Amino acid sequence: MSKRTILCIPGDGIGPEIMQASMPILEYALKIAGMDYQLTHGVLGGAGVDKYGEPYPVATQTLARAADSILFGAIGGPKWDQLERKLRPESGLLAIRQDLQLFANLRPARLFRQLADASSLKPELVADLDLLIVRELTGGIYFGQPRGLVEENGRRRGFNTMVYDEDEIRAVARVAFAAAQRRQGRVCSVDKANVLEVSQLWREVVTQEAENWPDIVLSHMYVDNAAMQLVRTPKQFDVIVTSNLFGDILSDIAAMLTGSIGMLPSASLNAQHVGLYEPVHGSAPDIAGQDKANPLAMILSVSMMLRHSFGLVQVAERIEQAVGRVLDQGLRTVDLVSVSSDTTELSGDQLAPIGTKAMGHAILQAMQES
Ligand code: NAD
Repeated sequence: MSKRTILCIPGDGIGPEIMQASMPILEYALKIAGMDYQLTHGVLGGAGVDKYGEPYPVATQTLARAADSILFGAIGGPKWDQLERKLRPESGLLAIRQDLQLFANLRPARLFRQLADASSLKPELVADLDLLIVRELTGGIYFGQPRGLVEENGRRRGFNTMVYDEDEIRAVARVAFAAAQRRQGRVCSVDKANVLEVSQLWREVVTQEAENWPDIVLSHMYVDNAAMQLVRTPKQFDVIVTSNLFGDILSDIAAMLTGSIGMLPSASLNAQHVGLYEPVHGSAPDIAGQDKANPLAMILSVSMMLRHSFGLVQVAERIEQAVGRVLDQGLRTVDLVSVSSDTTELSGDQLAPIGTKAMGHAILQAMQES
């Protein structure tokens, strides 16, 4: 295997802290996998504005285009909120996603059994929940033309266009089918084909593409029912594939099922399997610089990178198992202490929350001992 390049972008707020806690785990994982790699470092968001005057600086773009994979923390914060839209940190994130054509967003919603009481649903409905939402990320109603706000005959009118061509649908369906092959082999395609023509096409193309994946069981569901089923019996799902708008909403419902935003990783992939791996949460300015941030979403993003960009499934699993063992030991960052109810079974010492750095060390140690 040739040398792989991984671009590390800490970002703003808690981004640098969770990146720092995750790097030894990434490097250890790559070492035991025997992968030849180099790390590069870039800035994005507020850090990009501060250093280069733009949220997606040309220097970062050059590094991103040359990278095989990107590990990213989070961007944003009150310091940059008053800037004009194109200079806001969020514009940097949208720009890098578009620049690298990261059309498939993978968001696993996995609930470690040790945290089952963190969910707003009953523990028995969500314990060991493990589903994956594959959302189309660069098309659909968020980008469709025409769009706008106009005034006609003294009345304002706003409009957007939900549009997909069949290649866009097929591409994201393939990502979902491939992901399902590494899981339980079931894909549920979510649409609104009873009302929308664009969804009719979605359903036809996904059904056609499924013929190339005979080992996958495909089902279809309308989005309103999917929202209901996610909070009724979420464990019925393995992989959900859906459009940009529906995926935006359903993935937040799925995140809520796990109860803890500090635990959720994500990946955005392009056709060349270059991925941007990042926690689902934001830059948490309220706790930045205090060693309070939970680094597990970032560490699990490392695991997703190993799995999806480099095919290193065993090492990825080793990270996930290390997270499980550390939770078994009763170690929790502050955000998890406040949501976890199994703490009654823990001793007084174990109840004290640990910091970002200590959580990173604990995961590394658990990996080294396995
Ligand atoms: P947020 O996710 O940053 O924080 C929401 C709450 O969750 C806060 O109380 C925070 O302390 C807590 N939290 C988040 N991550 C945590 C972690 N790892 N450990 C412990 N607690 C954690 O969302 P917000 O407050 O709405 O946004 C803050 C900033 O982040 C804004 O500038 C927003 O634009 C930006 N943002 C960035 C991304 C991204 O980079 N992908 C995503 C969402 C929001």
